[in-house]
Amino acid sequence: MHVAVSIVFSIFIAFYLVLFVSKSQNVINLSSSIIFNEFFGRKSTGALKQSVSPASVHWGCESLDRGVTLTFDDGPGPYTAQLLDLLKRLDIKATFFVMGVAAIRRPELILRMVDEGHVVASHTWGHANLTDVMMSGNLTKMDAEIIDTEDLLFKLTGRRPRLIRPPYGAANKEVVTYLGGRGYSIVMWSGGCIDWFFHDMVNKEIPVYINGMADAGALLCFHDNGQAGDLVSHLEELVTLLRTAEPRTTANPQGRKIISMPECLDQEF
Ligand SMILES: [Zn+2]
Repeated sequence: MHVAVSIVFSIFIAFYLVLFVSKSQNVINLSSSIIFNEFFGRKSTGALKQSVSPASVHWGCESLDRGVTLTFDDGPGPYTAQLLDLLKRLDIKATFFVMGVAAIRRPELILRMVDEGHVVASHTWGHANLTDVMMSGNLTKMDAEIIDTEDLLFKLTGRRPRLIRPPYGAANKEVVTYLGGRGYSIVMWSGGCIDWFFHDMVNKEIPVYINGMADAGALLCFHDNGQAGDLVSHLEELVTLLRTAEPRTTANPQGRKIISMPECLDQEF
């Protein structure tokens, strides 16, 4: 009888212990998840919000002393080598907003840009509409467009790009915050960006630039893509007109000097 009572008592104790341990485990698990959320989940999100300031967005130069800055998007492409030759001859330091997908095909041209004093900046990996990507919630795609390009340019040049021009100029508040969090400044433009459509510098673009659009502190946008032949053929004409600016065609008879992006934004990159 005494043995039977002991066995029943032991079974009861064992059952209770199992129950206690499993309940404790639940409590521990629950506490762990609360701790994780409080101290890692929420806290990291809060810290992220505090540390991320929106990227600055530039539509023109800080300098308003009749400086004009030339920028080239979408390259490097088949005309980039000729464009670099021309810029060297004209003594112009430009800014190239390159795509990762193009840079990986023509890495030697990225190196030439840096060696010859131009600024190499990001135009995403595959010309993505960053607002669409952000609104889709696909942050993996967002990171691939931005970080893969950044990593490639770092591998090629030893420098991470600090400037970016979002394709199509598409950047909503979330995109601006994301890019600011990665240390980018966004560079839009104040003139141009129509050469990809017209391919007619002589009749469609140069008259517009010379007759007012390329005003003080202008950021001019061109496309260094597979159809840049017309641009390369007539860029010297535009530069000469900007620099000499004949009084009959412009309100700025003293001409406009071509300045670099560091001069335009008053900072080094
Ligand atoms: Zn583009």
